[in-house]
Amino acid sequence: MSDRTKYLLDEKDLPEVWYNIAADFSEPMPPVLHPGTGEPIGPADLAPLFPMALIQQEVSTERYIDIPGEVLSIYRQWRPSPLFRARRLEKALDTPARIYYKYEGVSPAGSHKPNTAVAQAYYNKAEGITKLSTETGAGQWGSALAMACAFFEMECKVFMVRVSYDQKPYRRGLIESYGAKVTASPSEETNAGRAILQHDPDCRGSLGIAISEAVEVAATNEDTKYALGSVLNHVLLHQSVIGEECLKQFELADDYPDIVIGCTGGGSNFAGLAFPFIGRKLRGEQDVRVIAVEPTACPTLTKGPYAYDFGDTAHLTPLVKMHTLGSTFVPPGIHAGGLRYHGMAPLVSYVCEKGLAEATAIHQLEAFAAGIQFARTEGILPAPEANHAVCTAINEALKCKEAGEDKAIVFNLSGHGHFDIQSYMDYLAGKLHDYEYPEHEIAMALAGLPSVAQKANA
Ligand SMILES: *Cc1c(COP(=O)(O)O)cnc(C)c1O
Repeated sequence: MSDRTKYLLDEKDLPEVWYNIAADFSEPMPPVLHPGTGEPIGPADLAPLFPMALIQQEVSTERYIDIPGEVLSIYRQWRPSPLFRARRLEKALDTPARIYYKYEGVSPAGSHKPNTAVAQAYYNKAEGITKLSTETGAGQWGSALAMACAFFEMECKVFMVRVSYDQKPYRRGLIESYGAKVTASPSEETNAGRAILQHDPDCRGSLGIAISEAVEVAATNEDTKYALGSVLNHVLLHQSVIGEECLKQFELADDYPDIVIGCTGGGSNFAGLAFPFIGRKLRGEQDVRVIAVEPTACPTLTKGPYAYDFGDTAHLTPLVKMHTLGSTFVPPGIHAGGLRYHGMAPLVSYVCEKGLAEATAIHQLEAFAAGIQFARTEGILPAPEANHAVCTAINEALKCKEAGEDKAIVFNLSGHGHFDIQSYMDYLAGKLHDYEYPEHEIAMALAGLPSVAQKANA
């Protein structure tokens, strides 16, 4: 084991393929269903929304898929990202555990999201698309896609959840600086938005509503396609570069993680780090324990059933089998905006269903407390989303201390919190509080699970 603090790979060691976990499952994933017929959909059904190259990746069972040269050359601006050993945090915790973190905040937009934004813009451009529409919650995805569209000289339209639009003007400013157009969602610009506003003029919005608006714009404009920042198989595929690098960095460290941890909103940064490790486990090469962490206020994996549901509120998307809180669920306004989605990536849901990963939920205040401890020991102020992973890593390291076990723990530090200072100031001023699990609202949202899929859900 090495005594270094930082494990950097050479540019030439940047992985040149993405890893597709579907290749290592012994049975196929449950199919995606047409919302009208309840029958499995084909590539043609997705063609109005996505370029063919991404649809092919969505259904691929190839283990490795080449990363295009143009995408690699953009990745090289900030990749390979560093793997750090959190030595000062270990010391503060007085734990025998070795804590590592993979830092994705080094990308220009400050999170892991450019890993897929750049790839998606590339494939759309290659098929002649000139404009992408999307949604953003906390603003991380909107800024990543806006940057990628600027690189490929494409237009970008971002529906930003109303509550973030009002609370996070700096993220909005970043998106606009990259040249994208931002609209608060729900908006008057789409049927989906108008329908919601008619019913509730003060609606704070949700990712599910913003997705409906962005999908509608793509479906009704020939030159426009839709881009999603998480959840879909091809997004998780692109994020696998994180875990692929991390495997090489653990070789440099002459170590291997006993525990791999990621926070989960739609599941992409978690999958990006964890899937290459789970793949090794599936192939019988090396065992590992994997933990997905979510907020108690939006407990998709820990409280939501594994069932067919829509990805959006207006029910424009196909039905996918996933852990869900119901497509009409509007989560409480916690500050980890990127973790407020009613569903979860089908691949992450499946991996949890099969016992290849476990899920846990933590409260907002303990997450912020962990983020503050991390900032004071390691210097990096994490994104509020990433605090969920930080907190779980600390909890596991403290368990190691109690048990006298010297385990290796790695977590994904999915982004920095430099645009989330207001939430840290609110936390430090004692203005934040924990939300109880909104049982009643979730029950109401779950009562509306699509009936067309009842047979498939049974
Ligand atoms: C978007 C985001 C998340 C949550 O999305 P996943 O798809 O679950 O990764 C987590 N952390 C950061 C920094 C984000 O920007």
